[in-house]
This record gives sequence, structure tokens and C-alpha cells, in this order.
Amino acid sequence: MKKQQAHCTLCGRNQNDVQMLLQGVDGHVCSDCIEQAHDVLNEELSGPVKSNRKGKGSKDAYNLIKPMEMKAYLDQYVIGQDDAKKHLCVAVYNHYKRLMQPKVANDEVQIEKSNIIMVGETGTGKTYLARNIAKILEVPFCIADATVLTEAGYVGEDVESILTRLLQAADYDVEKAEKGIVFIDEIDKIARKSDNPSITRDVSGEGVQQALLKLLEGSVVNCPPQGGRKHPDQKMIAVNTENILFICGGAFDGVKRHITKRLNTQPIGFSKDATFFDEFDDSHIMQYVNAQDLKSFGLIPELLGRLPVITYLNPLNKSTLLSILTQPKNALVKQYDKLFKMEGIDITFSDEALEYIVEQAMQYKLGARGLRSICEAIITDAMFELPSQTEIKEFIVTLEYARDKFERTTFHQMKKVS
Ligand code: ADP
Repeated sequence: MKKQQAHCTLCGRNQNDVQMLLQGVDGHVCSDCIEQAHDVLNEELSGPVKSNRKGKGSKDAYNLIKPMEMKAYLDQYVIGQDDAKKHLCVAVYNHYKRLMQPKVANDEVQIEKSNIIMVGETGTGKTYLARNIAKILEVPFCIADATVLTEAGYVGEDVESILTRLLQAADYDVEKAEKGIVFIDEIDKIARKSDNPSITRDVSGEGVQQALLKLLEGSVVNCPPQGGRKHPDQKMIAVNTENILFICGGAFDGVKRHITKRLNTQPIGFSKDATFFDEFDDSHIMQYVNAQDLKSFGLIPELLGRLPVITYLNPLNKSTLLSILTQPKNALVKQYDKLFKMEGIDITFSDEALEYIVEQAMQYKLGARGLRSICEAIITDAMFELPSQTEIKEFIVTLEYARDKFERTTFHQMKKVS
């Protein structure tokens, strides 16, 4: 007798027609029926805000952390960048409030989401801020890189792959993912390549911006469960992006030129008598960045319209870098201290050595990201040798030691050649 193919007891579809079939005592049920049943249950059981956490009522479904508390938490890890922190905390807080607004029929006041764009040189802490804010969040969060995206049909990833990442962060719980936060890094890399419409298509620039619009404006997007490139036979997951908060970050190298030009030519406010630029340090020009400058840089107005909050990160100066090295909860110096303590060794960096490290980081223009590689270059030898020298209980990194070790590294040699 021909063996009957397993099928869903509820909808009757065969194993091949569904994504997954779960076996019960004397029957099967498919993933689509489970999802539908879950939706029905949720609608019946919960109020205006549906919580995925058991035992919580609708109002306090989220543990609301006030913006100031959120910033205080960020302050423990991220040095400075107060404006960016403030904007980020307010946006995230409002995101929660938006999720909690009761669904009242014909309510005229609907809180709209305020997607953010963060502008700041590389290594100033954009991703780090986003990562730290993710730690306090109770909604799914993911980081996506805009540089890998291309217009549909070309080599690269479709923009929908961003949502796949969010789905993964939400354990494929679509409802949860639909309330999540997405950080899109390197948004400046998809700027329009030139102002002149060219005969060749801009598949990784303007094309991607157009594709991103669909995500940012709040629509139902079909995304491939495993990410990457969509293909026709794939089963898609529909995600509504209406409530997803998007935070974008980018270095926007060269945007200063547009800001300066705009400020210089503005008829009201700042005069051309140079006093404005005398008073303000050029390195802080970034604080005046606005949508117009980003448009001149190559972001299309439609995209900017969906990213209404623009904030900036200051470049890191010597004293900030020094603080980053020593003050945050997981500062590099504290990490080395912990590593050496595990060997029974007390490590101390002299003030001069710390300053030397900071100076090198400034020279190499790597932002805070360079601090780590410079420290590694200096103390790798000690980390290699000291664990075998059990009689040594104290290790001091002096200026001479730091300079000697650093100047021998390929890092330093490379700089001399270039
Ligand atoms: P980007 O702005 O290019 O996204 P990142 O956020 O990746 O820069 O920063 C690189 C690293 O530098 C981070 O992992 C973090 O350790 C350190 N860092 C950068 N800025 C700060 C800061 N303001 N406070 C503390 N650490 C920072």
C-alpha cells in the first residue's frame, strides 16, 4: 500500500507545501496554522499593546527607562557625545511610547516615529553608542551595513536582508521584530555618486536609497528568512515596517565643505565677515550639519524626509581619547588590568605612557579604534613573556617602554615608509 504523505490536520496541506510540519500524538500541524492560531490568541487575550512577555499587563508591557536614566547608563561606557546621546535616548524612549499608544479608532493624534541619522567621523563611537543602547532595550535590535546592499537584481544583498537580521534577533517572531530597532551603518556610502544623472546605473548608491525608502516609510516587506539574495522559490516572511525605528550612521567624509559653504552663503544669521569662523573651531563645524548638507552630499530628499532627526558626533580630541582609554566601565586599561591580575601581576600605565598612546592614535587618525591596536603593539611582548616568569608581580608601562616597543612594530614602520 502506498504510504500517505504527512499533512497538516488543520488545513490539509501536504508536507511539501508548507515551511514546517510539527508532529502531534496522532496528526500534524503546519507552521502557518500555528502562526494564525497565535495571532488569534494574542488578539483575544491582550489589550492595545501586545506583550510577548508573560504575566505583564498591556500598559507596563515595557520596562520604560526614562531618557535621562538611559543617558546615565550610556555615560558609563561612552565618553562625551552628549548631543548624540540625548537625541538617541529621546528617540528610543518615544519609540517605546509609540508602541504603547492605545489603538483608539479615529484618534487624530498619532505619534510618528522619528528615525535618526548620526553624522560623525569614523571611530567616534556611532556603532558603539548603538551597541550600548541595544543592551538596555527590550525590543529586538540589529546592526546592518549599507555598503553590502545593492539594487535588486545586482550582485550584493537586497535591502530586505536588513529585516532578516532583525527577524533573527527576534527569533523569527514577526510581531516582535515589527517593533524592533535597526541601526544602518555607513549610510554615507550609498550617497549618489554625482549630481549629474549618468548613463550608467548607480546600483549601489541612489538605487539602494530608493530601495531603502520602502523600508523606512512603513510598508509590508517580504523578506527572505535566511537573508542574502531573494529567489523565486523561496518562502518569504512578510514584515510590516511601520513601527520599526531606523537609526542610520555615517562618517560623511567631506560634508564639512557643504556645511561651511552653506553657512558662508547664508544671507541671514551668519555674516561673511569671518567672525563666525574665528569664533568656532573648524573641528566643531559638524554640529551645524542639517538635511540640506546631507542632500548636497548625495542623499536623496525622499530618504532625508524619512530621517527627520539629524545628530552629530564630535571628533575625538586628545583629552577625550585619554578618558576613553581609562574611564569607561570597560576601558582598555581596565581590561589589561584584569588580564594581568589573572596572572597575579599588577600592571600600571604611567601618565606619560598613556599620553604617548593617545598621541600616536591622533597621528594615525584612527579615532578611538586605533587605541586598541597601539596598546596591543606595546604590551604584546609582556603578555607573551610574563605568564612564564612567575616571580614578576608588578609591571609598569613607562614612556620609554611604550616608545621602544611601539617603534619596533610594523605599525610604526609602515608609517615611516608612507
Ligand atoms: P564608528 O563611529 O566608526 O562607528 P565605533 O563606534 O566603531 O566608531 O568606535 C570604535 C571603538 O572606539 C569602539 O568600539 C569603542 O571601543 C571606542 N570608542 C569610540 N568612541 C568612543 C567614546 N566616545 N567613548 C568610549 N569609547 C569609544
